[in-house]
Amino acid sequence: MIPKTIIEKEISNLSTTLKPITSQMQTWAEKNIFLKWGVLSRGKFHCLECSHSWKPELQSKSCEKYIKCTACEGRLKMQGCNQVHFKEIEYSAVLDVCAGYQVVRIICSHKHMKKNTAPSYFHKEVMQHWINPKGEVRTMSLSTNVFSGAYDAWQYYSALEIRPKDFQNSPKYRINPYRIYPSFKVLPVLKRNGFKTGFYNIAPQILFVSLLKDSIAETLLKSSQTSLLSYYLMSHEQNIRQNWQAVKTCLKYKYKIEDYKIWEDYITLLRWFKKDLSCSSFVCPKNLNEVHDKLVAKKRELQIKKYLLKMRTEILSAQEIYEAEKKEFFGLCFKDKDLTISVLKNVQDFMEEGDNLKHCIFTNEYYTKKDSLIFSARIENIPIETIEVSLSKLQIIQCRGLKNKNSKYHIEVLKLMKENLPLLKKRINKQKRAKFEKTALML
Ligand SMILES: [Zn+2]
Repeated sequence: MIPKTIIEKEISNLSTTLKPITSQMQTWAEKNIFLKWGVLSRGKFHCLECSHSWKPELQSKSCEKYIKCTACEGRLKMQGCNQVHFKEIEYSAVLDVCAGYQVVRIICSHKHMKKNTAPSYFHKEVMQHWINPKGEVRTMSLSTNVFSGAYDAWQYYSALEIRPKDFQNSPKYRINPYRIYPSFKVLPVLKRNGFKTGFYNIAPQILFVSLLKDSIAETLLKSSQTSLLSYYLMSHEQNIRQNWQAVKTCLKYKYKIEDYKIWEDYITLLRWFKKDLSCSSFVCPKNLNEVHDKLVAKKRELQIKKYLLKMRTEILSAQEIYEAEKKEFFGLCFKDKDLTISVLKNVQDFMEEGDNLKHCIFTNEYYTKKDSLIFSARIENIPIETIEVSLSKLQIIQCRGLKNKNSKYHIEVLKLMKENLPLLKKRINKQKRAKFEKTALML
């Protein structure tokens, strides 16, 4: 991207004045950011660090994770799949100060290893995060290969270029260097806001920006809550800002949170129960897991009670309408040996029928369907199928058993229902006549 704004031009110019990464820094990275590797090949151990090879002693097993090189004494991690040449990629950072900016320079290093050869290295500065004292950050970076599956497939021949403001949302921005070059410079304002020398597994650019513009980060660092700070800045699922009142209570009472995720979950429950989050007896429990599980169970119980109460009121009001519409058909019942088919009389019966046969007759409110009449087919009073009949067409619309499938009585059920459809007609005519007489009477 071509620098357009004053700040973009300033940073792009300042970037060219930074001293190149020194060979000293590179040597440091080679020694400090990589693992040492070993491989078992053709019955011999090979140290990929010093290229020494030796025959394993009889008792040593080839499945060991680490071995010790007999020449350089390096602790070697064993390459699992017997590859005799491969590479490792790691990030490190160099911290500098330039014209009032805190600069975080991210170096990507490659280590190429091959049996019988000393490892070779490649280093490239891939990003520079420029942070001003207000905590605003702009990033210069190499281009990446967009067609590669990896988000950090750098094009090493490209130049560092200023990137748009929203680069902070890119996963590249969150790359956390494995180590920081030990001799570094930081802005005085960062020291004032609590920074000493530790990074606590937080990417330096993320730590610095937060210390400059987020009082939560500053408070956590100054009260030495470093693992909580790291959770706050690096975890995607944290809700520390929302739970800040409760966090402050913990800080005040010097309570150590054992498991942040469970604790935050527990605070959400406390909030649901409208508990005082400044009260240590709630917020700082002795046995977090136990009280957490208790509250979960209590909430579940209340939810079920509430649901049942709501259903009861709903069923009551639905019952009135249902009765007014379908009263004429109540009591209709057909029998053939063990099989009985009868009209569902209560909305409550719809719920039970739906629960028993695991279909949607209740949830989809079949009791409100004006043209439908619902029958339950049962054997020894156990529901086996539910039948929907259209009143206007005098036809069976559907007849379904457990989970909407046919039961083994399906054919008998259909036969018995069909035979009795004329009975239904009689009731409909009766209903019509009653309605007619009622209106006539009113006239
Ligand atoms: Zn060695």
